[in-house]
Amino acid sequence: MLSQRVAQLKPSATLTITAKAKELRAKGIDVIGFGAGEPDFDTPEFVKEACIKALKEGMTKYAPSAGIPQLREALAQKLYEENSVEYKPSEIVVSTGAKMILFLIFMTILNEGDEVLLPSPYWVTYPEQIKLLGGVPIEVPTSEDGGFIPTADAVKERITERTKAIVLNSPNNPTGAVYPKEELEKIAELCLQKGIFIITDECYEAFVYEEEFVSVASLSEEIKRITFTVNAFSKTFSMTGWRVGYVACPEEYAKVIASLNSQTVSNVTTFAQFGALEALKNPEAKNYVARMKEEFTKRRERAYELLKSIPYVSVFKPKGSFYIFPNFSYYSQKLGDDIKLAQMLLEEAKVACVPGSPFGAQGYLRLSYATSMENIEKGIERIRNALSELS
Ligand code: PMP
Ligand code: GLU
Repeated sequence: MLSQRVAQLKPSATLTITAKAKELRAKGIDVIGFGAGEPDFDTPEFVKEACIKALKEGMTKYAPSAGIPQLREALAQKLYEENSVEYKPSEIVVSTGAKMILFLIFMTILNEGDEVLLPSPYWVTYPEQIKLLGGVPIEVPTSEDGGFIPTADAVKERITERTKAIVLNSPNNPTGAVYPKEELEKIAELCLQKGIFIITDECYEAFVYEEEFVSVASLSEEIKRITFTVNAFSKTFSMTGWRVGYVACPEEYAKVIASLNSQTVSNVTTFAQFGALEALKNPEAKNYVARMKEEFTKRRERAYELLKSIPYVSVFKPKGSFYIFPNFSYYSQKLGDDIKLAQMLLEEAKVACVPGSPFGAQGYLRLSYATSMENIEKGIERIRNALSELS
């Protein structure tokens, strides 16, 4: 008999679609994948080399649970230089990807029935993790017309005496929204007043095309004290399979998160941490990230133009991340819902997209443009043709 905790658990919709597309491709079916939430670039060679060197030099044993000291120091320096926040290495903990980091943060702060505010659309994993840990996700709606930006007023309306935290995710998965500094300031001030933690998921910080990226903890020293800054090597350095993520937060919480690590994963694979260290230290790394961003910039334009020209589809032009989140309500209603629409596109048009409903946005589809320009053009053309038969 399953525990009550897992009885309602849903598998990750994004990973499920990606796996399905790979499975079809392995069978020789020409599927175009817009599902994958990972850059289509290879991990930089210098990162791989550093990892291999560490492996050969015997870095194959347990490591400290909070992360190897060199990596925590390098992360403190990165946060200072790139994000304008001063964290001590003792305030930083490394775990197996941002996903595990988020899980450990929720475990650290949530009691049964505590509410967590989630601007919606949200990344699929947040509500599932919150529920697993006894919390209650509370949606804060945003609108396509409002650029999918959560407003302080909308946040305020949903605060109750059970509100424990808010999850902010800018640049956003799935919408591509980047929150303006003024709105972040208003929301953060509200959280300060009401004693609410801020969990800021900054995994897509490297991919901002419009707007300025602002690290929430950089807003003020007081805001920093209520904030958990979450990030990972997964997207920035195309290291999704390495499983290295981190949190920076006040030391009392960092210590608990490190203890949780010590009782669960023990540590991130030791030689993988040396690869991650090289990603921060190698002077070539900035060029590598810049090249990736340049490529995504071109693809964003193209995907936006092509999707916008499909009849009855409205598209918010993403300002960051590598996702685009068009509104296909007209078509999804004809088929029943967006899950059926995504299924039809996969089976008939051979295009994999993630339906909007697991992100809390019925009628939308998420397309990742972390794929070649050729695939973008071919895939959207296939979608257009399949939909033209419906309209
Ligand atoms: N946060 C967001 C918004 C994401 O899209 C992802 C997906 N990779 C993660 C966290 C988890 O990242 P990681 O692969 O480092 O666990
Ligand atoms: N975060 C990525 C996505 O949204 C990877 C998949 C996952 O971790 O769920 O597609």
